[in-house]
Amino acid sequence: MLDEAKALDAADPLRAYRDQFDLPEGVIYLDGNSLGALPKRTRGRLQQVVDTEWGDGLIRSWNSADWIGTPQRIGAKIAPLIGAQSHEVIACDSVSVNLTKLIGAALKMRPGRTVILSEPGNFPTDLYMIQGLAGQGMAEQRLAHRDQIIEGLNEDVALLMLTHVHYKTGAMFDMAALTKAAHDAGALVLWDLSHSGGAVPVDLNECDADFAVGCGYKYLNGGPGAPAYAYVAERHHETFQQPITGWMGHARPFAFSDEYEPAEGVSRMLAGTPPILAMAALESGVELMAEIGMEPLVAKSRALSEFFRTAMAEHCPQMEPVSPAHPTQRGSQLSYYHPEAYAICQALIARGIIGDFRDPDVLRFGFAPAYVSFEDAGKAVAALKEILETGAWDRPEFKQRAAVT
Ligand SMILES: *Cc1c(COP(=O)(O)O)cnc(C)c1O
Repeated sequence: MLDEAKALDAADPLRAYRDQFDLPEGVIYLDGNSLGALPKRTRGRLQQVVDTEWGDGLIRSWNSADWIGTPQRIGAKIAPLIGAQSHEVIACDSVSVNLTKLIGAALKMRPGRTVILSEPGNFPTDLYMIQGLAGQGMAEQRLAHRDQIIEGLNEDVALLMLTHVHYKTGAMFDMAALTKAAHDAGALVLWDLSHSGGAVPVDLNECDADFAVGCGYKYLNGGPGAPAYAYVAERHHETFQQPITGWMGHARPFAFSDEYEPAEGVSRMLAGTPPILAMAALESGVELMAEIGMEPLVAKSRALSEFFRTAMAEHCPQMEPVSPAHPTQRGSQLSYYHPEAYAICQALIARGIIGDFRDPDVLRFGFAPAYVSFEDAGKAVAALKEILETGAWDRPEFKQRAAVT
């Protein structure tokens, strides 16, 4: 298995990019789907922003370093990764906050309709944001199982809101088909790309999607708590209105007018002042992913996860696969059930192999294609085989739950 892995690494066109990331010695990092690794260039970029732009430039840097244009500039760099035009994407706030803005926009665009349709087991924050607006009397939540979404669409539905790649199982929705079904029912569509952007092929324009949001700290390597991004299809730029109408989304923020007047296009997604240090780290991560380009990232992701899946089936049959077997039907991750998933995950971490655990019994491995090698994947399977065969996971310290799992 390890010989095969080394041969695959030798032939990997992305192998040089691993050196662009600062990965600690002795760590095999299979959790880039939760927090992307640190690009080496981000250190220097942050240093420069702190020392030169903030330290020396002070408030002048809003203009001289174009701090003010950062949300649109980063959005334009994310756009080609998700099949959008550069003026349709903006970097701002968190996924959670952007969801609320776009749900609000959709409700306004579909008067008389109040239902937001999603699936049970969607990423919690996505459902919580619907529930928050429901609590304000603005929306109604409807959940339909993933194979019954189309039946859940009717003339009450304002918005179909789904996560493209499921965070726990890695299963991927057919974006084109579901977008069309929602449009046929008169609803708008919002895709959460948190586990897709930078990892799987996404073509928002081709699918005719209305809205999307995505995460900056996963496959885009923007740093812990990095700002998120949002997409609004060009055809909605004239009409959409989002409810968090802060001054940065005003047509002329520095006119200090008493009356809100939305900025042109996707810029009206902005609410408050962009966090420049966090934005600088995000921009650095996004630039690296854009340099590599989606096609090689997708090819590597599929090859890597297939290598891992095949090796797991042979060497760790005790682990029950959760994710779809076919690489075009899943994200860049593989999940497995095991009743002792938490302790097994801790035993792996004790050996420097970082995957993650999702309650109650799922072990999840992410394959960030820019920096994970086939050898990493092979070594992880070998360690897991040893842990399972020797029962090395069965120790009290591996069963102690930490605050963040
Ligand atoms: C990671 C993730 C989020 C994160 O939301 P934040 O508000 O940015 O913390 C949202 N949705 C999905 C599907 C995610 O995977």
